[in-house]
Parts: sequence; structure tokens; C-alpha cells
Amino acid sequence: MTKYIEINSKTACNRINSNFLPFNWDLNIYRGCEHKCQYCFALYSHKYINSTEFFDEIYVKKNIVECFEKQISSRRWKQTTVNIGGVTDSYQPAEKEYKLMPEILKLCIKYKVPISLSTKSKLILRDFDLFAELATLVPVDIACTITTLNENVRKLIEPNGATSQERFNNLKEFSKTNVNTGIFIMPIIPELTDSYDNLNMLYKTAKENNVNYAVTTILNLRGETKISFLKFVKDKLPHLYNKITSHYKGNYVNSTYKKQLDKILYKISNKYPLMEKTKIYPDYKDIDTQLTLF
Ligand code: SF4
Repeated sequence: MTKYIEINSKTACNRINSNFLPFNWDLNIYRGCEHKCQYCFALYSHKYINSTEFFDEIYVKKNIVECFEKQISSRRWKQTTVNIGGVTDSYQPAEKEYKLMPEILKLCIKYKVPISLSTKSKLILRDFDLFAELATLVPVDIACTITTLNENVRKLIEPNGATSQERFNNLKEFSKTNVNTGIFIMPIIPELTDSYDNLNMLYKTAKENNVNYAVTTILNLRGETKISFLKFVKDKLPHLYNKITSHYKGNYVNSTYKKQLDKILYKISNKYPLMEKTKIYPDYKDIDTQLTLF
């Protein structure tokens, strides 16, 4: 049973010092995430609050709206993109109850703050009008993480997220506005979501839904994520355990596998012509990440 724990935060946006991400500020309303993805990269974050229940103990930053206004109304604040939910999903089920995102978006409109956000939830459509209004004032980027169109696999690896079709529907709706839309095909899981057919279908469906760009990343296995993901494979997909692990050298896939996958991605991304010359994420330098602009 999921427990919501209300907390007060000192600041809303945290500074990110990264030379490959296209933003310097990240805002997370929730700590922990109910979507329960088996490959969750954010599991590590709960250890800072001495909890091991990342999926079931959700910490809600009740005062985040006040903190956000304090930060962005300051004379020292430079108008820059805020990434919303870089660690945990801002539209996870708790948001249905707490309704903090509409207030954050109203402040973004008031202070003209450009944003980027990614989600696996269809709850984002509740705030459609606010995003659409904000996108008439400043750049707004919305991405959905979509890893497979096979619902059986999706349910297994992202049990509490929206269906992949619903996530494409989010993007289709936002493509009718000024919002820049993207698909995060990440992580690509060896032997499970890395087939030509799956990746081709994702790109094809993205194109059909007027998505502007795609970002791909292969699954890395580090820290808590490695332990938890490999346990999941052992329990639920034992026949794939040896095959999946054979592609890894340490925390990353080996170079032979990476080269093969890069070739497939190159071929597929070239099949889908550029639809719009967006300049989003121009500085992506992460060698594990590939960006395709449709
Ligand atoms: S949506 Fe993101 S943060 Fe939430 S469980 Fe999935 S990977 Fe983790």
C-alpha cells in the first residue's frame, strides 16, 4: 500500500552541473515514484532519506509552489529552462490528489519560465490548457518515455505507467500546440526491447503522431538499479538472464553490442525524414545517448 509523506523543502529547483544536459535546473515535486519501472534509475535517491521503499513511500514536497515562486521571482534568477521531474515523474498517481503541477505551471506562465518535462502518465492531459498557454510565451518541451509497443512487455517493465498508446496520444495532443514533443526510447533493454521491429515501430508511430524528436539510451546497470533489475530478470524472465548479462562488461554494454545497436538505430532514424528543424537539445554530448530530430 502506497504511503504519502508530506515534507517541506528548502528550495524548489536544484542546480545541475552537467556539461551535456540542455538545462541547469531541475525541479522534483515527489521523492519516490509509483510507476514502479523495473529499470528505475532513480532508486538511489531514496537512500538520502533513509528509506528503501522507493515505490511505496512517496515524499510530497507540500510547500514546493511557494518555494518555486520565491526562487523564480528573485532578481538573481536568470531566465533559463527548468526541467520538471528529472528524477521522478511529476504526473505519478500522487499528483491526482495533490494537484501541485497546475500551480507550478501557473507560476511558469506568470514569470515566463521555459520548461522541459517527461512523463509516463496520461494525467498530464489534465493540464493541457496550461501547457498550451505557456508554450505561446516561452519554449516548452514535453517528452514521453516509450520503450515498447508490446503491451505485455510494457506491463512487465513499467507496470504502473500509462499504456504506450496513451503516451503517444499525449504527444499527439501536444503536437497541436506550440509545445515541442519528443519520445525518450530509454532505456533500450538488450534482448527485450532492442529488436529492429520494436525500435522501427516506435520511430514510425512517433512520426505518425507528429513527434519532433527522439532520444535513445541503452540500459546501464549501476548501483541499486543493477541489483533490482537483475533480480527482476531472474524472477520474471529467467530464460533471458544469461543472454542479457552476456552483453554487459561492468556497468555498460560491451562495444560489440553497442556498435550493432547503433547501426540499427542509424538505419531506422534515417528512414524517418526531418519534420521540423527544432533546436531542442542541441548540445547533447552524452556518448550513450543519441538524438534524432524528426
Ligand atoms: S517513471 Fe522514472 S522515476 Fe518513476 S519508476 Fe519509472 S523510471 Fe523510476
